[in-house]
Amino acid sequence: MDRRALGIAGVAVAGAAGITALLRWRLWSHGVPSTPTPPVGDYFDAAELVRNREYRRGVWAMAAAAVPIAPAVAIAVACTSGRWAGPLARAAGGRPWRAGLLFGAALSLAGTLAALPLRGARYGWGREFGLITQDLPAWLVDVGKGAVIGAVISAAVASGAAVLIARAPRWWWAGLACGIAGFVYLSSLLTPVVIEPLFQRTKPLDDPVLARQIIELARKEGVPADRVLVNDASSRTVTANAYVSGLGASRRIVLYDTLLRDFPREQVLVVVAHELAHVKHRHVLKGTTWGALLAIPGCLLCFALVGARTGWGPSGAPGGAGTRVVLRRLAIVAATASVAGTAAAPLGNWVSRAYEREADWTALRSAQDPASQISLFQGFVRTSLGVPDTPRPVQLWFGTHPEPIERIGMAERYARDPDPAG
Ligand SMILES: [Zn+2]
Repeated sequence: MDRRALGIAGVAVAGAAGITALLRWRLWSHGVPSTPTPPVGDYFDAAELVRNREYRRGVWAMAAAAVPIAPAVAIAVACTSGRWAGPLARAAGGRPWRAGLLFGAALSLAGTLAALPLRGARYGWGREFGLITQDLPAWLVDVGKGAVIGAVISAAVASGAAVLIARAPRWWWAGLACGIAGFVYLSSLLTPVVIEPLFQRTKPLDDPVLARQIIELARKEGVPADRVLVNDASSRTVTANAYVSGLGASRRIVLYDTLLRDFPREQVLVVVAHELAHVKHRHVLKGTTWGALLAIPGCLLCFALVGARTGWGPSGAPGGAGTRVVLRRLAIVAATASVAGTAAAPLGNWVSRAYEREADWTALRSAQDPASQISLFQGFVRTSLGVPDTPRPVQLWFGTHPEPIERIGMAERYARDPDPAG
C-alpha cells in the first residue's frame, strides 16, 4: 500500500474514532444508574431454560456463520473485476450511471443468494421450535420482496457512486458521503410508509381503554402519541414485541398483535412507556445521525483503498476504457464498505444498548410499575425462547438490547430506589 493511501486511511480511522468520541459525549443516554445484575436463578428456572438455550445456540451459530458472507462476496467480486468489468461496461453502453446500476443490482442479488441457505436454515430452525408461524410460500415471498428492495437501493447507490467516481476523481468520496448521509435520513423518514407496509399490515389500536391509558402515559412523558398502530405479527411469529419508527410526520408506535393477545394490560403499558421513551429521547434521529456521520470516514477509507489499488488519476474517458476503471473502483468501494459495515456492527449495537437502557429507565419512571416490567421480561424470555444471560461475545456482537437479566436488575433497582439522582 502506498504512503498516500496509508495516510488517508489513517485520517479515516482517526476521524471515525473522533466522531465516535464526539457522539458518545453528545448523543448518549443520561441519568441511567448502573445496576447490579441479579442471579438468573432468582427469576428463571434452569430446567425451563434448557430448550431455550438449545434454540438460541442454533440461532447464534447460524448468525455467526452469516457474518462473513456479504464481505466475502464483495471481496470476491472486487478481486475478479479484471474478468467482468470489461463486458459489464460494454453491456452498459459505456455509461457510468448505467454500469453502476447493473453492478449494484447484481452485487446485491449475489449477496442475497449466497446468504439464502443460512436464512433458510434459520427459518427451518424457528419453525421446528414453533417460534415462526409463517408458512414457506409466504416466507419465500417476503425473501423475494427483500431481495428486490435490496437490489433497487444498491443499484441506486452504486449508480450515483459510479457517476461521482467518473466525474470527480479527487472528491467523489466526499460527494458519496453526503449522498449516503442524506439517504440514511431519508430512509429513516420513509421506511414506515414505503417499506414496512410491504411486509406487514397495520391498523389503528381499537381498544378505547388502552388507548386512553396510552394517551395519559404520553402526556406524562410529554410526547405525542397520535399514531399507535397494531400489526399482524401473529401471521409470522409467536414472539411479542413493539417498536418506534419514522421521523417527524412519519413517526409511529407499532405494537405486535401477539403482545396484545398474550400479555396482561399492565405489561403492555410498560412496553408502551418504553416506546414512548424512545420517542421522548429522539433515539431514531440520534441513531440515524450516528450512521450518517460515520459514513464520512467510511467513504474516505474507500477512497484510500481505491487509490492504493487503481492509482489516483482520473478513470479515463467515459464510453471507453474509462467505464471499466470506474467499475473496478466501484467494486473496491463496495468491498471496503461491506467489510467496514460488518466490522462496525458491534459499535452500532453498543449504541443501541445504551438507548435501550435509557428507554427502560425512563419507562420505569413513567409507568412506575417495576413488578410488571420484571414480569414482562420474564414473559419475553418465555415466549421468544430467549436466554436471560447471553454469552458475552454474542451479546457484544449481536446484542441490540441489554440482556433480560440486566433489564430485570434495573427494575429491581428502581423498586428499591426510584430516584437515585436526588
Ligand atoms: Zn426499545
